[in-house]
Amino acid sequence: MSDLKNIDKMYVANTYARFPVEIVSGKGSVLVDNNGKKYIDLGSGIAVNVFGAGDDIWKEAVIAQLDKIPHTSNLYYTEPCALLAKMLCERTGMKKVFFGNSGAEANECSIKVARKYSAEKKGSECFTIITLVNSFHGRTLTTLAATGQEHYHELFQPLTPGFVHVPANDFETLKKTAQETNAAGIMMEIVQGEGGVLPLTEDFVKQTAVFAKENDIPLIIDEVQTGNGRTGQLYAYMNYGIQPDIVSTAKGIGGGLPLGACLMGEKVQDVLHAGDHGSTFGGNPVACAGGLTILSRIDDELLADVRRKSAYIFEQFTGAAGVESISGMGLMIGIKPVGPASRIVNAAIKKGVLALTAKDRIRLLPALNIPQDLLGEAVAVLKQLCAEIRE
Ligand SMILES: *Cc1c(COP(=O)(O)O)cnc(C)c1O
Repeated sequence: MSDLKNIDKMYVANTYARFPVEIVSGKGSVLVDNNGKKYIDLGSGIAVNVFGAGDDIWKEAVIAQLDKIPHTSNLYYTEPCALLAKMLCERTGMKKVFFGNSGAEANECSIKVARKYSAEKKGSECFTIITLVNSFHGRTLTTLAATGQEHYHELFQPLTPGFVHVPANDFETLKKTAQETNAAGIMMEIVQGEGGVLPLTEDFVKQTAVFAKENDIPLIIDEVQTGNGRTGQLYAYMNYGIQPDIVSTAKGIGGGLPLGACLMGEKVQDVLHAGDHGSTFGGNPVACAGGLTILSRIDDELLADVRRKSAYIFEQFTGAAGVESISGMGLMIGIKPVGPASRIVNAAIKKGVLALTAKDRIRLLPALNIPQDLLGEAVAVLKQLCAEIRE
């Protein structure tokens, strides 16, 4: 480990504060380090491994596609890309899909679509995108501009202009700002992930959706983290019964390979023409073949199980010793401990449990099919540490 740690420190860009763990293998919700120590994984590669590490059905489809043709570029038709787009549209009521390779790219496409739609419809001065304070939309200069957290902005000025942030759950301010800026789009996460696992209120989401529709402003929902079954519905917006115009997703949709998608609804389906946007790797046949096996298994039974496990975790931590509060939706959960979240998460690693943090919270994003016994074991470890580590 120390050798690898040194090589990594010497040659890999210093952008990550890694945990002191070298993962060498894993299956489902159990990961193994270089010393053979096992961990219960409550992070699933940041909501990527929907069915856990190295899921067999996903792996088989990926290997089969690798054997057929791993990459073609978008100059040619390939089956997995077309079939995944069809499945995404059939499951959401959206009309067209653009594939990229990450969440940031999915959001870039969403922003471009909203801007082009609004500029064509309302004039070139209609370009402002409204997003929320404390949001997270990615690391490119444009998605950083969309991200409503100042500390991400400081080092990289000037960012893409035309983004305004309004407080979450404050519909009057959103409405006023959208009117004053002649908004070209409104973009939000249903549960702010990196921002601390904070769900938006149902009223706010519904009022915003009605307002956006009445004023012909494309509503973009960033489902990069909340999507693909994570919140107990296929996409988190479905919990609130709204129909967005544009949906970005990534993370879980690829089940472990880089894949992002921008889904376009009826209003904006014809905005992009040949040459308007593109990606060399986007819609890669291997990633899409894997994605098909993920999306097709996110069914009612799995979603009911996600909601059941979520209720179990909420029940376990609500009012528990050393726990101030618990937030989230489905298997996207934030626990605010009395003590520092990072100390508790580091102590959990020693006890064989891998969890994440978001702001001052312990963040849980387990595989959606994590077995109940492993979940129970990991919850017990975290509860004990919350009770013990108070400062
Ligand atoms: C992770 C995340 C992104 C960025 O995704 P990348 O694949 O890292 O580019 C964007 N939006 C949300 C809500 C995310 O959680």
